[in-house]
Amino acid sequence: MKKLKQIHTNKELHWVGDGFPVRNIFSYNEFSKELSPFLMMDYAGPTRFSATEKKLGVGEHPHRGFETVTIIYDGEVEHRDSGGGGGLIRKGEVQWMTAGSGVVHEEYHGHQYSKTGGPFEMVQLWVNLPQKDKMTKPRYQALTNDLIPEISLPNGAGAVRLFAGQYGSKRGPAQTFSPMNLWDMRLVAGTKTSLEIPEGHTAALFVLSGTINLPSGEKVDDAYMAIFEKEGDSLEFASSSDAKVLLMSGQAIDEPVVGYGPFVMNTKAEISQAIEDYQTGKMGHLH
Ligand code: MN
Repeated sequence: MKKLKQIHTNKELHWVGDGFPVRNIFSYNEFSKELSPFLMMDYAGPTRFSATEKKLGVGEHPHRGFETVTIIYDGEVEHRDSGGGGGLIRKGEVQWMTAGSGVVHEEYHGHQYSKTGGPFEMVQLWVNLPQKDKMTKPRYQALTNDLIPEISLPNGAGAVRLFAGQYGSKRGPAQTFSPMNLWDMRLVAGTKTSLEIPEGHTAALFVLSGTINLPSGEKVDDAYMAIFEKEGDSLEFASSSDAKVLLMSGQAIDEPVVGYGPFVMNTKAEISQAIEDYQTGKMGHLH
């Protein structure tokens, strides 16, 4: 069993553009070893937007060297990138964008959602790329609800929706550059869950709502994340209320991480190159 390493959160709120009121739950500055291949997590909401004719969100900006994974729990987000990717992601869906060698993109609330307003809740993860894949061609994967397998947990403990990775014989639709699991879990009050997570892999549970209880006695409440030791081949926990939990696990990428704003590379020289390539238009433009 993987033992708890620490429970972590960040309560500070800031706005990304005018559409995303986020708490930066973790970043590679503090947790580059513990959470690799996951570099960063912004948690937007839960909140509610009023109906508006305005286009809320964040305009054209670049990324290089990693993937942005956007999970919509409530609301809708529209996206467009210079690699030709884009579309609308709805409640329950995920946008998996490989920035690779570089894209510029924009992220806005969906037009229909903006017109009516309503609840909004979103997670954006930055997932690192191995050094050999940092300059891969940009790619866009829309993980729509019809592609995401949902599996019941044993003993009525709830259900797991697989975005990436494997549970039993089922696989999530995301193609990834290193082995990882990203699962949307819905847990039922008063149940226990045991999950097989490979020995040596990073593992963390982020609680969006409800409470889970760890065998070591700690409680993990909403907007808190439990980070586990890599040793051990299972995660065990109970749910004292219905809970919505994001499971992140994967093989750590044991390479230097050097980041600056929207770029995450392995060396300072590569960061300078990224800035120059963006400024000279090599990451493309939105049309
Ligand atoms: Mn972005």
